[in-house]
Amino acid sequence: MDKHELEQAKKRKLFRKLGVAFLIPGIIMMAIGMGSFFISFGSFESPKYFFLTFVSMPFIFVGAVFLSLGYMKSYASYTSNELRPIAKDNINYIVDGTKESIGSLISETKSEKIKCSNCGEYNDKDAKFCDNCGKTLIKICRYCHEDNDGNAKFCKNCGKDIS
Ligand SMILES: [Zn+2]
Ligand SMILES: [Zn+2]
Repeated sequence: MDKHELEQAKKRKLFRKLGVAFLIPGIIMMAIGMGSFFISFGSFESPKYFFLTFVSMPFIFVGAVFLSLGYMKSYASYTSNELRPIAKDNINYIVDGTKESIGSLISETKSEKIKCSNCGEYNDKDAKFCDNCGKTLIKICRYCHEDNDGNAKFCKNCGKDIS
């Protein structure tokens, strides 16, 4: 347990105590109020303590809120701890899958196609002219006049920089 968890546990304990502190007098007042209401049926007196029913309501409400805070937090942290790794795995799985498919799409585009330097269109690797603009995709080496791929950086014949 770290400091934060200890703090949380302390708070939960306090909430539970407060919940009981409000709930018990609330229930007692409710019982007295209801009791006096039913007793008054047998007599002609007006129910003296019936007002306690209404007084008890906010006590019971506040008590219930504190109790639910005291218990719900531990429940929430329990479920989130249980669920977090599963959710993370699922997200990682989806992200990995997406990454892979995008990655393969990009590498496929890069390896199987050559980009036209004029219009940016991707053409088949062995194409000599751009599908889109008709410009030549072959780079002719200005040193040895060898035909090179359109995206070649160095001449395959003489090795000089033709980028
Ligand atoms: Zn083009
Ligand atoms: Zn060359």
